[in-house]
Amino acid sequence: MACTAEKIWTIREVLSWAENYLAGYDVPDAKTEAEYLLSHLLNCKRSGLYLNHDKFLTIDEFQRLVDWLNRRASREPSQYIIGEQEFWGLPFKVNRDVLIPRPETELIVEEAVRTVNSEQWAVASKNIRDNSSLTTDHSPLILDLCTGSGCIGVSLAKEISGCKVYAIDISERALDVAMENAERYDVAGRITFLQGDMFEPLNGLNIKADIIVSNPPYISKKMMAGLEPEVKDYEPVAALYGGDDGLDFYRRIISESPPYLAKGGYLMLEMGYGQKSDIENIMAECGVFHNIDIKKDFSGIDRVIKARRKG
Ligand code: GLN
Repeated sequence: MACTAEKIWTIREVLSWAENYLAGYDVPDAKTEAEYLLSHLLNCKRSGLYLNHDKFLTIDEFQRLVDWLNRRASREPSQYIIGEQEFWGLPFKVNRDVLIPRPETELIVEEAVRTVNSEQWAVASKNIRDNSSLTTDHSPLILDLCTGSGCIGVSLAKEISGCKVYAIDISERALDVAMENAERYDVAGRITFLQGDMFEPLNGLNIKADIIVSNPPYISKKMMAGLEPEVKDYEPVAALYGGDDGLDFYRRIISESPPYLAKGGYLMLEMGYGQKSDIENIMAECGVFHNIDIKKDFSGIDRVIKARRKG
């Protein structure tokens, strides 16, 4: 059955058609995807679709849905189609200039918030007041490298009252998205957005961060070829590719971070599957970090490495 505008469709009919249509193009979880797109289009919850299943779509709604389904059938991620992805409980604007925030990345936000709220933090701030170590006024200074959509930096600015964030990305277009997200959540006044290659835009600013966070590109050359079409064909390569072995950005962040990190400050990096030992070795070689701690994500994968600058 072709889905055409000659007939007026109910939500129930169009959902079942849309599911089959997407499944015909091998879109995974076709039913959920059809529900996701239609509920966004109609601005309701998924349950709302079933509560109103006999409601008719307008011609305009129907045509927009067909357009969205065609995009999804070409394997464009739904998040780019609807222009949003939820992260840390907030909808973040996304487009093809930025990586779509992943749920496991919330772990780095959780860890940074926990660290700032910890007893250890309060004691450290109190004890090292006079030697350019951790920020002493309990308004931490945070650097978010490769900020992309800004999901990490914006969530931290929202969650940690008074903190100041420097959000850096090499892509100006990504920064435009991050700034929009910061404005949307009313934290733009506490975030400085800088365009440049890693720490380079901080040169001369005399920044000593309390926490550096980053979810850098970490896909290796070998893994790039095996990515799903949604990722490979639509997400920005610059946000995914981490060099031959996927570790280029870890080498750079770890070796270049010390001048920008307060003594006793924390470095927290997301990592990819199986990268833990290599990254631990890079940290060990650097010689500046201790108290290395690994956090697992909800699938049991080592996901965040946290280390403290000695001193
Ligand atoms: N910080 C953003 C995120 O975690 C972007 C990361 C990136 O572009 N590698 O989603």
